Amino acid sequence: MEFWVTEYQTPNLGFSCKTSETLRVEKTLFQDLAVVVTEQFGRMMLLDGMVMTTDKDEFVYHEMISMVALNSHPCPRKVLIIGGGDGGALREVLRHPQVEKGVLVEIDAQVIQAARDFFPALSCSFNDPKAEVIVDDGIKYIKDHKNEFDVILIDSTEPVGPAIQLFSPEFYASCFAALKEDGMMVAQSESPFFNQDVIQMVWRGIGQVFPITDLYLANIPTYPSGLWSFTVGSKKYNPREVEKVPDYSFKYYNSAVHKAAFVLPAFVQDIIGQVK
Ligand code: SAM
Repeated sequence: MEFWVTEYQTPNLGFSCKTSETLRVEKTLFQDLAVVVTEQFGRMMLLDGMVMTTDKDEFVYHEMISMVALNSHPCPRKVLIIGGGDGGALREVLRHPQVEKGVLVEIDAQVIQAARDFFPALSCSFNDPKAEVIVDDGIKYIKDHKNEFDVILIDSTEPVGPAIQLFSPEFYASCFAALKEDGMMVAQSESPFFNQDVIQMVWRGIGQVFPITDLYLANIPTYPSGLWSFTVGSKKYNPREVEKVPDYSFKYYNSAVHKAAFVLPAFVQDIIGQVK
């Protein structure tokens, strides 16, 4: 008998992977969590039926959500990650030689626990002395922090449940206030094929608050449509300009990819061009 897991990426499209084992299925305080072993992508974490991360393609998302801002900011010493309870973004942030402290604020302790139990390559930085892992609502946390961070990464779930407010202009204004005077933020902003409304909402919200707004793309096979967007808000630095790339190895990111990621297909330019 075969067992398959399916994410319904749209009401009319399912993305299915054959599984060999189910490691965890539970209801947390905030969402339905599952960890399965897939034949194609290795271990996979799902929240509310949506793929969050897999062993085989996590490197693309985690390098790309982190490295663009970290390498266009000349001195990213203190970094805040909101969401990201799998630990992948924290791992990348703490690899960066200029980072002295990485703070992770994840609302769901059971996501962190699942990462510890089943994704050692992602959760490897939770005990790093430069890491601070906080279980709290990112919206609440950020209101109490002003002028503190060089870079903020919004590594959130889709705009449903506890993450809805993470896509609001009020939240982006709180990020602006929590950043130092030359700070920069990046938010994952979903698929240009299937979530044009989300991209426009994020672009509008960040654009209302930050003097520089920009958008870049990466290819992530297990995310809806495989093409994923990230939106940047910057107070001072141009995110397209690479200051200096650390000399350890990446699997996806490099300085050419950094620049190329901002080259947008015409239909993606149209999505953000239509925002009023
Ligand atoms: N890379 C993923 C994606 O795009 O599908 C996101 C992964 S990460 C696991 C997303 C995390 O954001 C989840 O663990 C979720 O619990 C967390 N989250 C959602 N709303 C939050 C909030 N208000 N404050 C802090 N964390 C939140």
